[in-house]
Amino acid sequence: MSQRKSTSNEMIRCSFCGRTSDEAPQMIASPTGAHICADCVEVCGTMLGKTPEDEAEEGKDTVAIPELEVPKPSELKAYLDEYIVGQEYVKKVLSVAVHNHYKRLQHQRVQTARPHNEQSVDIEKSNIILMGPTGSGKTLLARTLANKLDVPFALTDATTLTEAGYVGEDVENILLRLIQAADYDIERAQVGIIYVDEIDKISRRTENVSITRDVSGEGVQQALLKLFEGTVANVPPKGGRKHPQQEYLQIDTSNILFVCAGAFVGLDKIVQRRIGKRVLGFGASTQNTMEGAVQLDETNIVARVEPEDLIKYGLIPEFVGRLPVVATLRELTQDDLVHILTSTRNALVKQYQELFKMEGVHLRFTDGALRAMADKAISKGTGARGLRAALETLMVNIMFEVPSRRDVETCTITADVVAGRSTPKLTFVGDTAKRKSA
Ligand code: ADP
Repeated sequence: MSQRKSTSNEMIRCSFCGRTSDEAPQMIASPTGAHICADCVEVCGTMLGKTPEDEAEEGKDTVAIPELEVPKPSELKAYLDEYIVGQEYVKKVLSVAVHNHYKRLQHQRVQTARPHNEQSVDIEKSNIILMGPTGSGKTLLARTLANKLDVPFALTDATTLTEAGYVGEDVENILLRLIQAADYDIERAQVGIIYVDEIDKISRRTENVSITRDVSGEGVQQALLKLFEGTVANVPPKGGRKHPQQEYLQIDTSNILFVCAGAFVGLDKIVQRRIGKRVLGFGASTQNTMEGAVQLDETNIVARVEPEDLIKYGLIPEFVGRLPVVATLRELTQDDLVHILTSTRNALVKQYQELFKMEGVHLRFTDGALRAMADKAISKGTGARGLRAALETLMVNIMFEVPSRRDVETCTITADVVAGRSTPKLTFVGDTAKRKSA
């Protein structure tokens, strides 16, 4: 009993911080025998003195959101239309998702400025997953969008990532790309967009086992999941692996929009099995409904993907749950590819024509030539990706020759040239005059 008495100086302790009267300045005793030191009084005073506005102001400091102009979905789509052929639905989905991302950010700016007791609705982030065959425009869509937006954008690849402790890059390095894209302005990077390509390569399927990466891919999914959900991540400023003596850049990922993309080869089989369509070959479903008689093509099937199919494919459920917007790109048709060659803003044919124009030569492609090139790309299964390479090989000889000849007027590429059966047809300066006089 005597120990609790304030007459014994050594035994008086602040009931809040636990320091003795020797360690803490001035002690105030309560009639019930509790004590509080002057420091703790001050701390309590500041806490009680805070108004909700003060707290809102503090909150603003932690999630600083720059003021952004919200682009309209129709504006975004119109911009995408200039560069990307087809994929109408995906363009719409992406435009809306990006528009909502901006709106969500603006909403948060307003929320942080509001008093705490006002009820508010939290808008959740809608990360996106793009599925479609190679060369169908997934990366192009993301890149084009980034050019239009005034938020930083980073293109990354999931195949290089590994779980900590394995050979490869730490997942945080994808954040570094974004920080670099924002010129090390962390505040801007925190509202940026990260495109993660080849997301299907980190599924837990046995085919994707790599000896250098964590064996299942699940570790990478878990690590990415943390970023998707929103965390304050420590990023090594120079990239590479983390080590204890390093200084880190801290970045909050809760407002970063993630766009994941992958070809998801084989996913069609999983979807097909679920919806009970006729699967050809071994293990074919015996269900023979009216619907079952119709064999849907691969892209139609993938468009009917459900979260459970992605889980079967090897993505962990939480990961799938964090990617609520799913958009499927379809394989490009011959018409699409011809369009890509001739009509988009930076169409390949236009580019070559420009190069030839600098030599004073008019370059022409017949319709047959364009279609033959498109067919070649389709048969290779590389989508529009193969067009550039095909055109480059086709043009190499003529591009070698033309600059050293002053007399070429037109150069025509026909289907036979594409098939390798003949060389480009050239006309020369003076030919027209000669023909006229003859
Ligand atoms: P992936 O779907 O594999 O990411 P990319 O977007 O990288 O394919 O496409 C490769 C190239 O093919 C692009 O740089 C672009 O030139 C062309 N391309 C692909 N799809 C389209 C499309 N829908 N419209 C216009 N060009 C396209």
